[in-house]
Amino acid sequence: MKKQYLLAPGPTPVPPEVLLAMSAPMIHHRSPDFIPVIQKVRTGLKWLFQTSQEVLTVAGSGTAGMEASISNFMSPGDKIIAVNGGKFGERWLKIAKAFGVNAIEVPVTWGDSVDVAKVEDLLKKDPSIKGVYVQASETSTGVWHDIKSLAQITSRLSGTILVVDAITALGVVDIPMDAWGIDVLITGSQKALMLPPGLAFIAVSEKAWTLNQSAKCARFYLDLKREKDNILKDSNAWTPAVSLWIGLGKALEMMQKEGLENIFARHRMLAQATREGIKGFGLSIFARQSPSDALTAVVAPEGFDGELIYKNLRNQYGITAAGGQDQLKGKVFRISHMGYADVFDIITAISGVEMVLARMGYKGAPLGSGVARAQAVMIGQ
Ligand SMILES: *Cc1c(COP(=O)(O)O)cnc(C)c1O
Repeated sequence: MKKQYLLAPGPTPVPPEVLLAMSAPMIHHRSPDFIPVIQKVRTGLKWLFQTSQEVLTVAGSGTAGMEASISNFMSPGDKIIAVNGGKFGERWLKIAKAFGVNAIEVPVTWGDSVDVAKVEDLLKKDPSIKGVYVQASETSTGVWHDIKSLAQITSRLSGTILVVDAITALGVVDIPMDAWGIDVLITGSQKALMLPPGLAFIAVSEKAWTLNQSAKCARFYLDLKREKDNILKDSNAWTPAVSLWIGLGKALEMMQKEGLENIFARHRMLAQATREGIKGFGLSIFARQSPSDALTAVVAPEGFDGELIYKNLRNQYGITAAGGQDQLKGKVFRISHMGYADVFDIITAISGVEMVLARMGYKGAPLGSGVARAQAVMIGQ
């Protein structure tokens, strides 16, 4: 027997309470049985997004939310800025291309955070740019981009929206949509929301709804205006993922019970403990200026293959973390600390990394030195 530990940055572990809620018998989405589920989800999502706008839910993975955030607000030929600092930043460019939207790339060296002044410059030079598309937390590199500063810039511009992929940020760090002036805020079910994959969420500001009226990109299933008209009547445009909605109601209830401030503080502590634990074992963090609190990308030590570390964690100890993608393959491995995560997930991760590396011949630090450092952070020492 090998006990399994899921420590990958999505899908993340699902709490037993949520699994249980999702196993309830099927109900009909147009019957009165589903109304309380919709109402609970509506209020819960507004609370989580810190917005007075409706949060729209579609059946699909996070990428459906990204796609909708281009097709619902842009027309072919429109100009947008796409911040590209990793695998997910790259995806903006691919989606824009598919819709004939003209994306101006702001390339960011993997591991760095976006230089906000560069974005500001581009916007100053070209007022016809209609949107700035960015990740809050770039999951491929474990980097946090400065969304608050970007929002300060775009909120002064009446014709430019800020679109934030917060798929590994919402429910991890404070990212208040209305207070910061974010126009389109996106997340998915399988990261910090503690649910299985299958739902994408998109909240839309008044400024973005105005753009929506003239946006000509083709859309049908992911038509957000149609979803908005329906959710205002406690209804869905299409058949919703009923069981996931029921699980979402439970997950939101758990999050509301913990409270936003406590959720952010827990993630901050777990992230800090992970980073310190990793450093305590003589390893380093890939993010240079601003690491994400959702996950940590760890640099494989000189002469050790990151892919093999990832594989050994799985094969020797049943720990599923994540490897590096594309140019980072073999160079980093990634440990998640978002969602249904607590101190012993981090102890497991650091301890597993230590044992795997020791068995591979790593001599950078004695066994337990990373764990000891993480423990110290956890008890505030
Ligand atoms: C997981 C993730 C997505 C969505 O990916 P899907 O596989 O479509 O769910 C998008 N952006 C970021 C930053 C992510 O971490």
